[in-house]
Amino acid sequence: MKNFLIAGNWKMNKTAKEAVEFAKALKAMKLENEKDVAILVPFTHLFSIADALDGSSIRFGAQNVHYEDSGAYTGEISVKMLKETGVDYCIVGHSERREYFNETDETVNLKLKKLISSGITPILCVGESLETREENLQTEFVESQIIKAFDGIDRVDVNKIVIAYEPIWAIGTGKTATPEEAEEMCRFIREIIQEIYNDSVISEQIMVLYGGSMKPDNAEDLLNKPNINGGLIGGASLKLEDLATIAEIASKI
Ligand code: PEP
Repeated sequence: MKNFLIAGNWKMNKTAKEAVEFAKALKAMKLENEKDVAILVPFTHLFSIADALDGSSIRFGAQNVHYEDSGAYTGEISVKMLKETGVDYCIVGHSERREYFNETDETVNLKLKKLISSGITPILCVGESLETREENLQTEFVESQIIKAFDGIDRVDVNKIVIAYEPIWAIGTGKTATPEEAEEMCRFIREIIQEIYNDSVISEQIMVLYGGSMKPDNAEDLLNKPNINGGLIGGASLKLEDLATIAEIASKI
């Protein structure tokens, strides 16, 4: 049986009050597979979300972190600060952070190492732009992102990272990659991991998610693909019913 993770990336949405109401309602649904469901919320909501989810196995996390332990980094949050809130996950290298906030392959790599050392599971985002896909360079592009992200990461730590393949052209656009396109890239990502570590157990076990306009009506076809372990879900995760429906679909696969 495949392991699943259905993770909602809320981005800069919902107030803390709205977030708590959502988390309590999600908990009240008592989803069969709630340990495979996570919400990734704004920093200011983390402590109250931890309280709201207490007593359930629903996971939660942040959307970014700094790679230094402390210091003169105005506006930033350290791994130690995140750890205090009880987070399970932290997104690293989301395409919006790469595009608007100068996130580079080098800072992604430093963040992954820092998160792993503190026991928080990074969700590493990779994925090509429309331009890159139109030039048919998507595999080279994603391969380079993965090689740089995993630089210096020990083989025993590889499966502590979740990878999310998020083609930029499918994020927030309503345009989903076809299940075949998503499957092909998720399989290719495992091949890259296999090449780096020369270990088929690691490459089979690593969690690879798909992200990009996943919704209740396309989730089943995507989640049924053998190399896809779940979804990183933006827009649809803001709606309780949609997130719960996608989680229910995953529980039946
Ligand atoms: C995301 O931002 O991670 C994402 C996949 O967004 P959406 O589902 O809205 O395309």
